[in-house]
Amino acid sequence: MLEMSESPALPAPVGAGVYNVYTGAAVDGAAGAVIPTAAQLGLEPPRFCAECGRRMIVQVRPTGWWAKCSRHGQVDSTDLDMRR
Ligand SMILES: [Zn+2]
Repeated sequence: MLEMSESPALPAPVGAGVYNVYTGAAVDGAAGAVIPTAAQLGLEPPRFCAECGRRMIVQVRPTGWWAKCSRHGQVDSTDLDMRR
């Protein structure tokens, strides 16, 4: 069994790890150290792009959410489910 605690397959807007997707704070700063897991993202949509820190357009549906960075594209919660 492979153990993958952090999937490298997460799309850049949630997986880049440069900015916290919930606060927009730089991850290398004291406030931004929390890197979301796919499991956390299943419960709460990201608000900021992990790659560039821009505020994303977020749409919440009954079944999940999508979030869109104008530079790095759209992430859909169903995509994360498939990669989990
Ligand atoms: Zn971005």
